[in-house]
Amino acid sequence: MSEPQISRRTLLAGAAATSVVAALPKAAFARQTPHRELRRSVVVLGTGFGGSVTALRLAQAGVRVTMVERGRRWAVGQRGTFPGVGTMDHRAIWLGSGSTVLPGLKPFSDRRRYAGLVEAIQGKGIVVACGAAVGGGSLPYHGMSVQPRGDLFARVMPAALDYEQFDQEFYPRAAAMLKISAMPQDVLDSPQYSASRTWQSFVAKAGLPAARPLPMTIDWDAVRREIRGESPPWFSSGDVLFGVNGPGKQSLDTNYIPAAEATGNVELLELHHVQDIARDRRGRWVLDIHRINRGGTLLERITLTTDALFLGAGSPNTSKLLVHAAARDTISGLPDGVGTQWGTNGDLIVGQLLPKPMGGLGGPASVASCDWDNPEGPVTVLYAPVPIAPRTDSSAYMQTVAMYLPDKLGAWVYDARKDEAIVELPGALRTPAAAAGMRRLNKVARAAGALGTIDLTGAVPNTFHALGGATIGTVCDDYGRVLEQPGLYVTDGALIPGSTACANPSLTIAALAERNVQQVLRRDLGAAF
Ligand SMILES: Cc1cc2nc3c(=O)[nH]c(=O)nc-3n(C[C@H](O)[C@H](O)[C@H](O)COP(=O)(O)OP(=O)(O)OC[C@H]3O[C@@H](n4cnc5c(N)ncnc54)[C@H](O)[C@@H]3O)c2cc1C
Repeated sequence: MSEPQISRRTLLAGAAATSVVAALPKAAFARQTPHRELRRSVVVLGTGFGGSVTALRLAQAGVRVTMVERGRRWAVGQRGTFPGVGTMDHRAIWLGSGSTVLPGLKPFSDRRRYAGLVEAIQGKGIVVACGAAVGGGSLPYHGMSVQPRGDLFARVMPAALDYEQFDQEFYPRAAAMLKISAMPQDVLDSPQYSASRTWQSFVAKAGLPAARPLPMTIDWDAVRREIRGESPPWFSSGDVLFGVNGPGKQSLDTNYIPAAEATGNVELLELHHVQDIARDRRGRWVLDIHRINRGGTLLERITLTTDALFLGAGSPNTSKLLVHAAARDTISGLPDGVGTQWGTNGDLIVGQLLPKPMGGLGGPASVASCDWDNPEGPVTVLYAPVPIAPRTDSSAYMQTVAMYLPDKLGAWVYDARKDEAIVELPGALRTPAAAAGMRRLNKVARAAGALGTIDLTGAVPNTFHALGGATIGTVCDDYGRVLEQPGLYVTDGALIPGSTACANPSLTIAALAERNVQQVLRRDLGAAF
């Protein structure tokens, strides 16, 4: 069905989201970009951890849900779907957002704009990497699914969150859906994973707590088939940064999302990029959406009006949308704390050149030392195999990641010149906690007899674990409802103030979404939507 063309004047005359539309470039209208209006009851923006959990539980309760996702659906687990680290191409990067996302990777020459897997957001003093796909960060992620310890959880998470309840109810609920299990001993003992064992020996020599296999969202039987030579080395090559081309990676598009779609209550709009959000005079939520093709070309503009809007665009993009809406007053009365309490989860990455190879790389990152009782402060240190070959054998290159409890947080602020929100975290690493984290990494490097260190975070401060910007207690109530904005919810990593307590964040984000949606269904179903 062809949709009617609409002029800029007609849109400006409409009641909905006037200031959002006014901000649009006139050129878009001059080209007569098709436009249509949609009306929905409940929208979940984003299909990452928070968004997928929320959509499933709403749909199971009989709510009709529209999931709006900027990224594309990928044929996960199939040969040729994703680029490798050494063969990076346009599929790796979201709409030209950066020529490389991982410091240390060579910039690649294929600069075609494409709805690729990872967005790299350049802030002031920090680069933020996040997922852009159906399934959000679960497509590029390694699958490390760590539950933090209760005392550390209590130090960083909002006081309203009861660890016992998470431990008993919400972590197990999310873990069961994500099918989490630790790397079995026979996999760790295989020649393909000898680098992990070598790294464990460096950790022991460094005097840190024993490095153990982490809970992962991996089907280890698929890895066993690789070890037996029955399948190509999709995981065991260590080349997993931009997705896995064989079976066994349990990303959200293999569990939560298909379960949500199977209810018959979910429509998922991929390649629908939300530009702005607004509240109209009747208190409904209005999304200004660009429907794009895989090359990023604008195909159609959609104005979607909904009674309830769950923001699951991930910490960076939920923060951006809210800070922009506050600055442009498309949502009046947003809390002052929008954009604040944002942090990196204490991420540090270093690479070292070793005098001799560590053996079979194995992947993804699956072993860690949890040095949580150290008087210098808790730090998790983990081995992150990546097939970068500065010499001939990439296992002579050791990449190690640390997560400490950040003692400095940043914020998203509105830049009027660019008309967008920018993240600022100057001097993130010049803090005592960061220095303590770095000392732990240096201990492992010394134990490994490293010939030299490449400080990948010091060179370009960066994080893969953005958290905060719309936190519980500052912007939202205890269950993710935005204060004084009925029908507006936050359901992703933006709820968490800068750290998931020395643990990779995805499992905690999923567990928090499980908790919040349960309460929202009890209280708001039939009222807000
Ligand atoms: C390379 C890499 C490796 C990682 N490895 C791990 C790991 O092993 N373990 C771990 O716990 N964490 C890991 N992380 C972090 C993890 O991916 C994130 O913490 C997690 O995905 C955040 O969940 P979320 O629900 O907050 O948002 P996301 O999962 O980021 O989902 C947000 C979704 O919203 C969409 N979106 C954003 N803006 C818009 C918009 N304007 N319009 C429409 N859609 C939009 C995005 O495309 C995305 O699909 C890794 C991250 C990266 C980048």
